[in-house]
Amino acid sequence: MIGYPVTLAVLRKDIESHKKGWLARAQELTKQARKQGNFDGITSIWSEIKPVFMRLQGDSKCAYCERKLESEEYGTIEQDVEHFRPKNRVTAWKPSKELVDVGVKLAGAPSKGDGGYYLLAHQVLNYAAGCKPCNSTCKADRFPVAKAYVLNGDDPRKLKTMEKPYLLFPVGKWGDEPEKISRVLRHLAASGGEIRVRSAARLGYDRVFCTGRYRRA
Ligand SMILES: [Zn+2]
Repeated sequence: MIGYPVTLAVLRKDIESHKKGWLARAQELTKQARKQGNFDGITSIWSEIKPVFMRLQGDSKCAYCERKLESEEYGTIEQDVEHFRPKNRVTAWKPSKELVDVGVKLAGAPSKGDGGYYLLAHQVLNYAAGCKPCNSTCKADRFPVAKAYVLNGDDPRKLKTMEKPYLLFPVGKWGDEPEKISRVLRHLAASGGEIRVRSAARLGYDRVFCTGRYRRA
C-alpha cells in the first residue's frame, strides 16, 4: 500500500481551489446529520471533490489495490470517493478459520438499525479515491475493528485509538504510514489481504492489517 502523506491544511486548500465553498457546505451537512442523529435524506456532495483525491493519489491510483486508473479527464466514472468508515451502515466481515486460529478477534458488528458513521459522511479525513471493485464489491460496508465501534465519532484521528481498525488508511498525515508497516512485511508472501492479515498476526502485532482486498464473508 502506498501512503499519501498530505497535511490537512494542504488538502483543505486543494479542495477549496477545486470547489470553492465546499468545506463550508460540508460542515453545514454534518451539522444537519448531528441534529437528526443519522444521515438519512441528507444531500451528498463528496463526488464534487473526487478529482482532488485522484490527483493526490499518484495521478489516479486506487487507494487499496494501487491500480493506476484513467486520468481525471476520463476516469472519474471508474473511481469512487471511498468513505473509509462507512457512512450508512457497517456490515460484518467473517474472518476465515485460519485468522481465528492465529488470534484475530473482531468487535461485534453493529446491528442493522444502528446505521454508520453519519458524522463522517462529509468529513475529508475519512476520504480516499478507490476503484469500484475495491470500494463497492470488496470492501463495501465492512470496517473490522478490534475494540468497539464508535459510530457517532466525528474525528477519525481520535477514533483510531478508540476503535483499533484492522484496515490501513493510506491518505494524509492522519493516515497509517503504510510504507513503515510494509517494510516489515515485505518479505512475506502477500498475494491477498487475508494472507497479510495472517502474516501480521503471526508477527505478534496488536493490530493486524488488511492491506489488500477483502474476501467476501
Ligand atoms: Zn482498487
